[in-house]
Amino acid sequence: MARDAFSLDLARVEAILPRYAIEGPRYTSYPTAPVWKESFGVEQFKTELASGSAEEISVTGEGDGLSLYVHVPFCRSLCHFCACNKIITSKAELPLRFLDTIEREVAAVREATGPRTATQQHWGGGTPTHLTPDQLTRLFRIVTDAFPMRAEAEISIEVDPRVTTDEHVAALRACGFNRISMGVQDFEPKVQQAIHRIQPVEQTRHLVEVSRASGFSGVNFDLIYGLPYQTEESFARTLDQVLEIAPDRLALYSYAHVTWLAKQQRGFERQDLPGPSTKLRIMLGAIERFVDAGYRFIGLDHFASSEDELSKALADRTLRRNFMGHTTQAGVDLIGFGPSAISELRASYAQSHRKLDDWEEAVREHGLATMRGHQLTGDDIERRWVIGRLMCHGELRADEFEAVFGHPLASGFARELRQLEPIAADGLVEQAPDGSLVVTPLGRLLVRNVAMVFDAYLADQKKGAQPMFSKTV
Ligand code: SF4
Repeated sequence: MARDAFSLDLARVEAILPRYAIEGPRYTSYPTAPVWKESFGVEQFKTELASGSAEEISVTGEGDGLSLYVHVPFCRSLCHFCACNKIITSKAELPLRFLDTIEREVAAVREATGPRTATQQHWGGGTPTHLTPDQLTRLFRIVTDAFPMRAEAEISIEVDPRVTTDEHVAALRACGFNRISMGVQDFEPKVQQAIHRIQPVEQTRHLVEVSRASGFSGVNFDLIYGLPYQTEESFARTLDQVLEIAPDRLALYSYAHVTWLAKQQRGFERQDLPGPSTKLRIMLGAIERFVDAGYRFIGLDHFASSEDELSKALADRTLRRNFMGHTTQAGVDLIGFGPSAISELRASYAQSHRKLDDWEEAVREHGLATMRGHQLTGDDIERRWVIGRLMCHGELRADEFEAVFGHPLASGFARELRQLEPIAADGLVEQAPDGSLVVTPLGRLLVRNVAMVFDAYLADQKKGAQPMFSKTV
């Protein structure tokens, strides 16, 4: 299947692309965050946390796992492509305040949930290794004293090789972190200069070597295509260097030009950004290189070595998508800590205040910092299931849908299945009479467009003057 993604006819892809290069969600949640409301607040989230602790197996195949996410918002300097929630600072007191506040937040969540053990933990940002090694150790204790990690848990962290020392790596391993994810983006000096992120390949290579020698079992790289000055040739040179280092997982993100969220992106002269055709060729060329090098195409923008847990999850259909992208654990609750962190429980989402001051004040007053959220309806749960199957498994089986929800797919989604007919004619999906769908290799590249057909909120969202999502291609 993965290899097939590259027997695509480039001219044909370019011919249909204008119909699909539109703004659309990445579906790390359904409904997507712009749908959530501020009327969902602290008390509702507390209730949800308490009800989520029942160790039941629900009809949608959810288990009793618990995934924890910690958002560390600080960075040393601003990368000009970045649209993450971060604070650029060199003030030493901010991390100390952050640690004191997150200690209160974790305690308040633990009080609401009661005792639970965790199967997965991930730290992102910002730059978690902006904290000192001692601060990292303190933060890990705060979280795991409240929610002990089960044996074999995946414990992962995002790091910036420019600020991550050998001492950071040693402290993380001593805590129990076993996966490390490095922002790389592009190794070309001219591109690095344009994006304000100078990161020599030797620096990244050193961090990989130290991480592997200290016992990290998985190394991930994040790359971005569509950045200023990138060409097929320049990105091919970056790929040579990446493949020589041979990370276990790769994420290849499309640069999202979202100037209404990240104003500094306006500094990228439009003419410096590769056009749609170049961008497409860079992406297809990169995917071909990864597949030839033995990586499996996991979906959307993720690749993994064939022995990696993500590849196994793809094979045994336990792959799942949440705010961290594709992940190995199906049907677990996700609880997020820190400013802007998102939690995903069985039937609800909640997000904390984004700004550090607002988050601190809310935690001081209420323990939790819920800013907005959403209680899923029965219709939301069905659509979330459908979109998850398409994005993670590349197929939708009518018999599975009926077994889970008790009514036929083709009757509940008759309108959507009709809307898919032109998309099927373009070769993105194959439809069966009972409504079952298989996403083709071409469709896997444009799977956001397929999923959008099942999004009941999208039509209203598109009526707004302000764009909400990045382009799908
Ligand atoms: S890309 Fe990473 S290091 Fe750069 S500003 Fe964004 S969060 Fe910070």
